[in-house]
Amino acid sequence: MTIIDATQAETSMEQENRYTSGVYGKRPVTIVRGEGATLWDAEGRAYIDCAAGHGVANIGHGRPEIAAALSAQAQRLVTCPEIFYNDTRARLLERLSQVTPAGIEHFFLCNSGTEAVEGAFKFARLVTGRTQIIATLRGFHGRSMGALAATWEPHYREPFAPLLPDVTHIRYNNLEAAEVAISEQTAAVIIELVQGEGGVHSATPEYVAGLARFCRERGALLIVDEVQTGFGRTGRLFACEHYDLQPDILCMAKSLAGGVPMGAVGLGPRVMESGRVGRGAHGSTFGGNPLACAAALATLDILERESLPTRAARLGAYALGRLRGMRSPLVREVRGQGLLIGIELKRRAQPYLEQLCERGILALPAGPNVIRLLPPLVISEHQLEQVLDTLEEVLEGSRALSERAQLI
Ligand code: PMP
Repeated sequence: MTIIDATQAETSMEQENRYTSGVYGKRPVTIVRGEGATLWDAEGRAYIDCAAGHGVANIGHGRPEIAAALSAQAQRLVTCPEIFYNDTRARLLERLSQVTPAGIEHFFLCNSGTEAVEGAFKFARLVTGRTQIIATLRGFHGRSMGALAATWEPHYREPFAPLLPDVTHIRYNNLEAAEVAISEQTAAVIIELVQGEGGVHSATPEYVAGLARFCRERGALLIVDEVQTGFGRTGRLFACEHYDLQPDILCMAKSLAGGVPMGAVGLGPRVMESGRVGRGAHGSTFGGNPLACAAALATLDILERESLPTRAARLGAYALGRLRGMRSPLVREVRGQGLLIGIELKRRAQPYLEQLCERGILALPAGPNVIRLLPPLVISEHQLEQVLDTLEEVLEGSRALSERAQLI
């Protein structure tokens, strides 16, 4: 077996691809170090990170607090099965019950977003005795078989059919469709309050209130997937706060442990009071691992101490204002909440993402036509200005090009 030391500068994309199935290293950049919202590649070139590891690094890269929490915990205890109590885990569970929306007081800890969604579906079946899941068009909930069934994008799903049966996709933000679909057969409705992968679309308050009402009236549970929107991303600690929403089940992951893999399913009163969720209902060897719990506690401290949700709200409002003022015929619409921003183009986003990368900005797509910005919430004002200036240059510069092209 060959062991690759990823910290060595000579680690190249080619070398990495030789040892993986090609899943890793899809972009021609080898990232070796990060600090705040800056990443460095193997050649020492700096980038402003507007991807944050797919929305993971809300507190920024290279945080000494995370390194210290991991080191202290690792010297004490690295693993502890869930059948025993663990002090660090107990502190995290208590902390989560304080910071998550009212009513969410019990948690199942796991290792990723897709696992949180799997857990949510299992709890929904257990509590309701029903199987039907209602998800939304353009929704994304993960890539394991159950979560994938709720993910909408056909090219992610179709090669793996048959998936979990009894999953229906309804139009997002359309209350009539929800009213027809949600019935006494429905176990749960799963939604993102801002669809991240699906193009950065926010749910309207009327839609969210309506969904919650239909679910309550018909005995279905409302699962809110805050894997991407949680932990300050949208300008509040949880996007639920924008809607004053108490979900029955809350899925969390990504930024929960500041970059260390961790997911969580939060369970509200309708789940706990059913009396059906007991010992052994669900389980995971690594779930609630003390190292991840220590990192999550340090992450929550940082988010609170540095008021990062408020910072995301302020910087996000500024960025949205500037982007909406941009005069580019390429741009169809600018959407977002906090530092989860989508710029929908009239063309494919990929060539523009490549141009941004060449100019030192790493960003992600959200569907074929949308440039998605989700930088660490600690991004400096100066860096954000640089991102906006560069976007202007790339998107308005193309105006000159396309105008010229039309003349020819
Ligand atoms: N739900 C949402 C809303 C997500 O954005 C994602 C990841 N992009 C997931 C679930 C899946 O998370 P993971 O990749 O950790 O499995």
